[in-house]
Amino acid sequence: MKDRNAIHRQIKDKIAKAKTIAITTHVDPDGDAVGCVLALESFLKRYGKDVVIVVQHRVPDMYLFLGKEWIPFDASRECGHYDCVIVIDCPTKERVGNVIRLFDNSPSVINVDHHVSNSAFGDINLLDAEASSCGELLFDLLESFAVGLNEFEMSCTFVALSTDTGSFRYSNVTPRTFEIVAHFVREGVGLDALNQELYSRCPLKKFRLLQGFLGDVTIDVGSRSGWCVITQAMLDAAQAKRADAEGFIDLIRDINEVEVAIVLFEKEHGVTKVSLRSKGAIDVNRIAQRFGGGGHARAAGCTIEADPTNALARLKDVLKAGGR
Ligand code: 5GP
Ligand code: MN
Repeated sequence: MKDRNAIHRQIKDKIAKAKTIAITTHVDPDGDAVGCVLALESFLKRYGKDVVIVVQHRVPDMYLFLGKEWIPFDASRECGHYDCVIVIDCPTKERVGNVIRLFDNSPSVINVDHHVSNSAFGDINLLDAEASSCGELLFDLLESFAVGLNEFEMSCTFVALSTDTGSFRYSNVTPRTFEIVAHFVREGVGLDALNQELYSRCPLKKFRLLQGFLGDVTIDVGSRSGWCVITQAMLDAAQAKRADAEGFIDLIRDINEVEVAIVLFEKEHGVTKVSLRSKGAIDVNRIAQRFGGGGHARAAGCTIEADPTNALARLKDVLKAGGR
């Protein structure tokens, strides 16, 4: 990437001049997205800015322990006009979903992301595919303001780092990831309590959904793949939402005989949301891109205009062709 300090200076300059700032992220926000948006909102408010979070979907239940959420964007409303839009964790503009008009109304867009496939659509682009998470990029950006993050902002950033690295287990971890965590420990952030909230809680509805899921998983040893469809009926029976299946796909990926894990969510009629995970030999980002999606080599996703059975058949064809 271009000189990181120069990009930080450009962003600081833009923020200093802006009065109103909108922050946005991708649809179905994950821990990296939620952590970054909340940390940034808090930080910029302390910095004296008028800040609004404009995101299509609400904060998933599992992150409500942070004690702060936002109102999801109501598509019947106008997106509003802001001096600056900061977009986090989105490889393309379209990933923000129904708030895309934000970009038409803003004189400047700051794009902060760590996806390899990011199209550098911002007026200023803070991009680094080597960074573990947007949390890692954001921390260094905010540190350069010399204001310091408060405890809430550090906790949110920890959630971003931890969730995007599978609790610091994935290959995307960098020395910087641990330096930032070391800083949090030094500052007295209660990581044990955060870890408890993130990894040692299971709402009953999630457990019920998991019971159904495990019974339905198919493992195909020949193709070293495993998959499961999560139907609307399964969600309804467990009184659960799609977000409650967070982490289920890892259970398939972790099976010794499996190289690629696929979870298919039945959405509205004839539409399937797909999650893909790989142990590393197969680049699932390439597979997802074949269907207009994306992500990372070992974790990616896409939406396929077909019912789950047909979507799975198409995915298997692409897998058989080695992702081509
Ligand atoms: P998940 O399977 O947890 O929804 O997503 C895994 C990874 O793939 C994340 O990095 C996420 O940003 C990316 N991803 C998931 N769905 C899509 C999609 O429809 N389009 C793109 N571009 N990326 C996606
Ligand atoms: Mn991320």
